[in-house]
Amino acid sequence: MTEDAQGATAMLADLATALVSGDVDVVDLTHTLDPDFPVIVLPPEFGQCARFRMEEISAYDHRGPAWKWHNFTCSEHTGTHFDAPSHWISGRDVPNGAVDEIAPERFVGPVCVIDCSEGAAADEDFELTPQVILDWEATHGRIPKDSWVLMRTDWSRRRGEAYLNMKDDGPHSPGPVPAAVELLVHERGIRGFGTETVGTDAGQGSHYTPPYPAHHILHGAGRYGLQCLANLDLLPPRGAMLLAAPLKIRNGTGSPLRVLALVPRAG
Ligand code: MN
Repeated sequence: MTEDAQGATAMLADLATALVSGDVDVVDLTHTLDPDFPVIVLPPEFGQCARFRMEEISAYDHRGPAWKWHNFTCSEHTGTHFDAPSHWISGRDVPNGAVDEIAPERFVGPVCVIDCSEGAAADEDFELTPQVILDWEATHGRIPKDSWVLMRTDWSRRRGEAYLNMKDDGPHSPGPVPAAVELLVHERGIRGFGTETVGTDAGQGSHYTPPYPAHHILHGAGRYGLQCLANLDLLPPRGAMLLAAPLKIRNGTGSPLRVLALVPRAG
């Protein structure tokens, strides 16, 4: 075994020990899939995303005496889910742009969390601007290349109609301005961007240039999205590792998934 391989083996052994001892916690950033969890609602002239549905096949009964199981249906974009580059027209020709084509190492990576919870509490249309990112970096250091960046808003605590927050002029929820996504993608080289809201874009994101800048810029550059995340308040600003592997759906544009973070124990 080479020295590098010995080092890597020792590192994984240390990780296994830390997971058992609790020095590294596994934090679940995922909402439970159930029929009540809201899905994005588009203007009525467009096709619509399906909620989660589950039907019982058998439950230790005449349909199957020793087993219980279900069929379920949903959209690729239902619940806590992953957006692949092919989800957006700007990313339709990106190589390896569907969930089944993305290399597995892309599903494990470092994560930075930008806390916008105070701003989002005061303003439901709170905007993540370049200045917010630069202020974060002044405290925590430059966002490392190939990191996930997650926008914490505590929006995941909302339930029912307050989650989509639909008004006469459409949904209202926080999100990034175009220049912030440009900074993250083209100057910091992030791997992807995630939010607690139903989309990576603000509720009013159709009014930016380009419309839906997170989708347009991220996916056009072959980067990924995560939305409907939870428990971002349990993550440090930096230093955690994100595990986010979508289902291997052929030509899939996204997928519900279990998002986990490996987090160093505080203190
Ligand atoms: Mn989506």
